Amino acid sequence: MTVTYSRKRYVRVCLGCDLLFDSQRGDQLTCSAACRVRVHRNGRARRWFGDVLRAGIPKEEIDLAFSLEVKALRLLRPDLADRVRAERGFTAEQWRGDLWRAYWDVVIEAVEADQALLVEDAA
Ligand SMILES: [Zn+2]
Repeated sequence: MTVTYSRKRYVRVCLGCDLLFDSQRGDQLTCSAACRVRVHRNGRARRWFGDVLRAGIPKEEIDLAFSLEVKALRLLRPDLADRVRAERGFTAEQWRGDLWRAYWDVVIEAVEADQALLVEDAA
């Protein structure tokens, strides 16, 4: 039997804490309820929009959730982020899989690092 993993996942930088997180929702901006509240209180989303506009990105192209994905891409795969900037035709559908793999590498690395610590503690 073949099981196909077809759920769509998004990797983003959290607007509240600047850490990477993944979500199945296309519009999720924060990693947790605590960060969502923080962002609401400190007006960070609004300021962030201002920064993007000042960076010269056309207003009609601003999608905050998508921009947080590109920010994650910039962190994990700067080579692909450069391509996004340079090539109009290089769409998210083309780089999301690579971003997801790069994200998973980081997750696996973190898990393995934790395991190494556990082994050290046990010794
Ligand atoms: Zn967060």
